Amino acid sequence: MKFNEDLYRIEKANTFSRLTQKIREHQPKRRLISLGIGDVSCPIVEPIINAMHQAVDDQGDRTSFHGYGLYYGLPSLIKTILENDYSGMGFSENEVYISDGTKSDTTSLLELFDKDSKILLADPMYPIYKNGSLALSRNIYYQSLDSDYKMPVPDEPYDIIYICSPNNPIGNAYTYDDLKKWVDYANKNHSVIFFDNVYEQFISSPDVPHSIYEVEGAKSCAIEFRSFSKRASFTGTRCSYYVVPEAISPGINALWKERTINRFNGASYIVQRGAEASYLPESKRLISQNIKKYKENAEYLRNSFLELGHEVIGGVDAPFMWVSTKGMDSWSFCDLYLNELDIVVIPGIIFGSQGDDHVRVSALGLLENSIEAMERVREYVKK
Ligand code: PLP
Repeated sequence: MKFNEDLYRIEKANTFSRLTQKIREHQPKRRLISLGIGDVSCPIVEPIINAMHQAVDDQGDRTSFHGYGLYYGLPSLIKTILENDYSGMGFSENEVYISDGTKSDTTSLLELFDKDSKILLADPMYPIYKNGSLALSRNIYYQSLDSDYKMPVPDEPYDIIYICSPNNPIGNAYTYDDLKKWVDYANKNHSVIFFDNVYEQFISSPDVPHSIYEVEGAKSCAIEFRSFSKRASFTGTRCSYYVVPEAISPGINALWKERTINRFNGASYIVQRGAEASYLPESKRLISQNIKKYKENAEYLRNSFLELGHEVIGGVDAPFMWVSTKGMDSWSFCDLYLNELDIVVIPGIIFGSQGDDHVRVSALGLLENSIEAMERVREYVKK
């Protein structure tokens, strides 16, 4: 037997595990505060918890028990998603799939396309696009960002393009006009856009669409991914969904269903019931309060770094921001914050070779921690 050689090509030097190792070895002089956190800090809201309790009871009763068979998702959840997130867009239940997380979905969907497809990634990007593509031995190409910190449309054709908006790690979002250029490019070149929209809930700018399908022409070239992780605090509970428009190519869903029934036994019934309850009016109200807390935290962090003279991108339509290191390389900046201030930030180089002059700061933690962290930074800068 031989191992998959491509697994050895997965980035080893500049990774979250190196950062985790540094944090483990670090001996803090005071409470360690993480501004790097990619996880949520608000728990799941009560109506969702109640729905999941009810679903547990369903599983203990012969008449309401659910076993195998939910390969593509619970029909009532698919219907709820269509009514709430894609209302008036003309999608059918055949085009929506429920899954257990966008992290795996964005790689799994590569199985629908030719293995020699040319895949275009932004540098920097959410590293899973690169490492997932490598694990499947795909051909990857990189595109640096423009002066707006967005991926410019290339001159050459590529088959699959990953776009993350609102963006992790940069924290900015693609406007309608930005996306229209990509949609036109993809339709012209018969490419497909993998549109990762897991931070949709954080959008507040009026020119940023909540779905790529708001952009004319997107139904014939884009697969959109969304998740309950950040919007409903499902990072540990696990549920996601994605749309594969039949307009991309007739028969695409028949082919994808064939693949899926052979590779996936469906997301948990209990979890899908919880996801469905996230659309109840009371859940929506409570979830929007949580999102508001993260956004207030983002505003505080953004303003603080700006006042300290850093360039700050993002933090308005996403819970992340991209903070300049003022000439340091990103590991050195991260080390300085860790060793001198007991604060964790994420080195930009983890997200790509072009990210070494920035760090990623997250607003998914608690405002009180951000306030304490920024006070430490101000004190340090004064000295
Ligand atoms: N896509 C992006 C851009 C993310 O930042 C994350 C999580 O950090 C994910 C996908 C993962 O989502 P999920 O929890 O649904 O797997």
